[in-house]
Amino acid sequence: MKCGEEMSAKILVVEDEAVLSETLKYNLERQGYTVYLAHDGLEALRQAREKKPDLILLDIMLPQLDGLEVCRTLRQEMIVPILMLTARTDEIDKVLGLEMGADDYMTKPFSMRELIARVRALLRRVQLMREQLGSRVFSSSQAPLTFGDLTIDPQRREVFLQGKPVSIKPKEYELLEFLARHRGMVLSRDLILERVWGWSYSGGSRTVDVHIRWLREKIEPDPAHPTRIVTVRGVGYRFEG
Ligand code: CA
Repeated sequence: MKCGEEMSAKILVVEDEAVLSETLKYNLERQGYTVYLAHDGLEALRQAREKKPDLILLDIMLPQLDGLEVCRTLRQEMIVPILMLTARTDEIDKVLGLEMGADDYMTKPFSMRELIARVRALLRRVQLMREQLGSRVFSSSQAPLTFGDLTIDPQRREVFLQGKPVSIKPKEYELLEFLARHRGMVLSRDLILERVWGWSYSGGSRTVDVHIRWLREKIEPDPAHPTRIVTVRGVGYRFEG
């Protein structure tokens, strides 16, 4: 991992409490990060679209548009890790259930040390993911991806389960490889559709659900209770490995 890239990451802090948001900015900048501030939900969407941050710290209780709505909206538009900040314990269920597709959360009050550790961990995950993607594009050695008894071979575009080849259609393969290369990330239906089927595809996002169902039949130990490709309610899917 290139440490420099991780250090210069851009972080969008969405927090309406002025003292806390300044404290976050100060502490994150001391770590070498570039920090943008937004103080309400609409401003958060604007800044996220414009600055394309590497990570978003998102308070839930916000003026204009709350953090859950902001999270839901951004999930449809971009792949970015989101760390939710919440003051209320009754909100944790929603966030924890990852219904909103948050990658992590912290309950206020939190220690800066802990927050920075979480930020670092999330950025590292993204960095790793980008490197895998990068090596896929730039390197001729397309190493197989292995998840327990599941192996995906990008070079041959083949999938093996317990060493035996799985009969898989080209689109199913592309979808599976896309999910696997974004392991652990919440991917919205629209995003999957755009990346796997392309802009020109005119079918609806139900196509994604149908292909996921077919994939589950092929690679899940129990397709009725999927553990490899899990549903993130109201958003899309996440590949667990
Ligand atoms: Ca707040």
